[in-house]
Amino acid sequence: MKAVFFTAHGGNDVLTVGERPDPAPGSGEVLVRVEAAALNRLDIFVRDGIPGVPVAFPHVPGADGAGVVEALGPGVTGPAPGTRVVLQPGLSCGTCEFCVSGESSLCVRFRILGEHLHGTFAEKIVVPRANVYPAPSRLSPEKAAAFPLVGLTAWRMLVTRAALRPGETVLVHGVGSGVSTFAVQIAKLCGASRVFATSSSEEKLKRARELGADETINYKTADVGKAIRELTGKRGVDVVVDSVGAATWRHSLTAAAKKGRIVTCGATSGPNPEEEIRIIFWKQLSILGSTMGTDSEFAAMLKAVEAGRIDPVVDSEFPLAEARKAYERMASGEAFGKIVLKLNA
Ligand SMILES: [Zn+2]
Repeated sequence: MKAVFFTAHGGNDVLTVGERPDPAPGSGEVLVRVEAAALNRLDIFVRDGIPGVPVAFPHVPGADGAGVVEALGPGVTGPAPGTRVVLQPGLSCGTCEFCVSGESSLCVRFRILGEHLHGTFAEKIVVPRANVYPAPSRLSPEKAAAFPLVGLTAWRMLVTRAALRPGETVLVHGVGSGVSTFAVQIAKLCGASRVFATSSSEEKLKRARELGADETINYKTADVGKAIRELTGKRGVDVVVDSVGAATWRHSLTAAAKKGRIVTCGATSGPNPEEEIRIIFWKQLSILGSTMGTDSEFAAMLKAVEAGRIDPVVDSEFPLAEARKAYERMASGEAFGKIVLKLNA
C-alpha cells in the first residue's frame, strides 16, 4: 500500500511517500481502506519527535481518517465490508480505573492513531472495532475525515469540561484552527448568547462570522483581553477556549468573567505563558484541562455532525503524493479549517 512514513524525526524532508506492507486485521480489529485523512498539529509534533513518546520506525502518521471497511478480524461481526466509516482516533484499554468509570480519554494506557501506533496517512489501516463508527451519510470522505479529532476535542472542552449553559458567553482564540472552527459551532449549538472569535486575519474573521461567531476581534490591532472587557461592559465572558497558550493566556485571564472557566487543550504558541495568580483567585476562575474525549462524547458529537448541526470545515485538499505541501500549509498558520489528504487522488 502507499503511505506517508518517516524513518527519523526532523523537518518535512523526513517525510516519504512510498510503499509499506499491507496491514492485516488481528483479533478484534477492522481493516479500513482509507479514502481521506486530515492533518492535525499533532502530526507536526510527531514528525519532530515528542519527548517521552518513542515511535517505531518506519512510522506512519495521521490521526484522522474516513474510508470503507475492507475486512474484519477474528471475533468481529461488523460493520460489514463496504460500510463507510470514520475513525475515533483515541485508543483506550477498557480496563483501567478511568476506563471503567467511562473516562476513556484519561486511560493510563491512552494512545492516539498516528502518534503511538501507525496512523491514517496510508491506503489501509487496522484499528480496534471500538474505534470504527458509521460515517455521516451526508458528508464526502474529505469532510468525514475532517472532524474526528478536533470535533471530539472541542466537544469535550465545551460540553463536558466547561459545561457551557444556554445564554452564557464564550471567547474562542485563534479561529482558523480546526478546534476553534468546531468550538464556535458547538458553542452556538449549546445556546451561547454571544460567541467572540479572534484572529489576525480579516478573512478568517469573516469566515468565523459565517460559522456563527457573533463578534470578532483582530488581535493584531486590538488587545483581546481589554476588547472583551469593553464589549461586555467590563463583565468578561463565562468560558474561554484557549488552544494557543503562551500568546493568549494573559488575555484569557483578563477576558474571563468572575467565576469564569478557561479550558485549554493545547499550547501551539508555547507551554509556559505569563501567569497572574491574583486574577485566578480574585475572580475565582476555574482552569480546566481537556484532551481528546470519550467514546460517548464522540458518539454525541457524531450525531450533531450527522444532523448538520455542526459542519466540518475543510481548508484544502492534497493528494497523498503532496503530503509535504499539506504539512507546509499546516505549519504556515494560514489555514482555516482542516487540511485533507486524498488517498485516491
Ligand atoms: Zn484504560
